[in-house]
Amino acid sequence: MKFKDSPIKRLSILGSTGSVGRNTLEVIRHHRHQFEVIGLAAGRNVNVLIEQALEFRPQYVSLNSASEADIFRSQNPDPQIQVLVGSSGAEQIASLPENDIVVSAITGIDGLKPTLKAIEMGKRVALANKESMVVAGPFLQQLARQSGAEIIPVDSEHSGIYQCLRKERPEDIKKVVLTASGGPFFRYSPEQMKAVTLEEALHHPRWEMGRKITVDSATMMNKGLELIEARWLFNLAPEQLDVVVHPQSIIHSLVELRDGSLLAQLSPTDMKIPIQYALTAPYRENSFLPPLDLKKIIKFEFYEVDIEKFPLFKLAREALTQDLSFSVFLNGANEEAVAAFLRQEINFYDLVTIVLKIIDQHQPQKVNSLESIFEIDHLARQLTKKFISQWMRGKEK
Ligand code: MG
Repeated sequence: MKFKDSPIKRLSILGSTGSVGRNTLEVIRHHRHQFEVIGLAAGRNVNVLIEQALEFRPQYVSLNSASEADIFRSQNPDPQIQVLVGSSGAEQIASLPENDIVVSAITGIDGLKPTLKAIEMGKRVALANKESMVVAGPFLQQLARQSGAEIIPVDSEHSGIYQCLRKERPEDIKKVVLTASGGPFFRYSPEQMKAVTLEEALHHPRWEMGRKITVDSATMMNKGLELIEARWLFNLAPEQLDVVVHPQSIIHSLVELRDGSLLAQLSPTDMKIPIQYALTAPYRENSFLPPLDLKKIIKFEFYEVDIEKFPLFKLAREALTQDLSFSVFLNGANEEAVAAFLRQEINFYDLVTIVLKIIDQHQPQKVNSLESIFEIDHLARQLTKKFISQWMRGKEK
């Protein structure tokens, strides 16, 4: 299905109360004449969802549990709004035939099923849920080819690559280079890394993001996941993918072409820019943010990633040359370990160590179906949870 050229695009957001969801609504606030919000899928944040519903008047909302849905109903700003419940609520919103655009911004593998629904419907999917692409990239792409869905990346690096590649032939692409800020611990010594706190890990030097991705940025797992995401999004071979640390986070990615040219995409460090592009591509709309002032940029730096200091990045890079089951297993173990770190059950150093230990238990297997992805993910999570509870008991002694 071709992207509709109608003046008003009808849009749903999966994960509307999260960081990307709220930024998407901020973009829409500045371009009200172009977008109509028809569905908002949230998790537990009923208060923010009520505010969003009051302002944007969607036809459908969804929340994780019946009790949250009851709170919403009791304060329902508009009795016309249909309130859906549970994971199927987000899938129903993803499947609305009225959608022109679905913004997929639920964090983690929880976003996979709703993303699949949106792709199945042949819609434009503005993809912020990188884990979907990491664990099921070939399936998502195949489904998109069948349905005619367009997958436009929201992740800033991938938005940059997408923009650089628009006019290039696949055979002219030599290499794609993702930039990494390096996260909060780029300049820490390995000794300092052992003692970092949750608060330090949640303090990202450049980007305002959700908690899971901020922790992933601190371990640099995020950049590893992004390499895998780029592989499937742009159909690249492992040797065509590279990462460079660029602490200023102004160049979001680079593409090296076979004639020696390098294309780069630069913009202010703000997620609203790639979000807006994912909604308007291939066209542009005015920005409502202060433009980049090149005269104020003192320097651009580039460094190699220290793979000894960031072993999870190294692991994720390895996933590029392994069976898909490795990526699924790694992602599942990482999601569970990050969740335990966010609950302060384990420290930062444990998080890294635990993922490294769990991945040793991965048994390579062919992934022939979406069901097997969920099975491998489940197994990795069970092993990680069990390991973490034993680990905690061992520490108590
Ligand atoms: Mg990114």
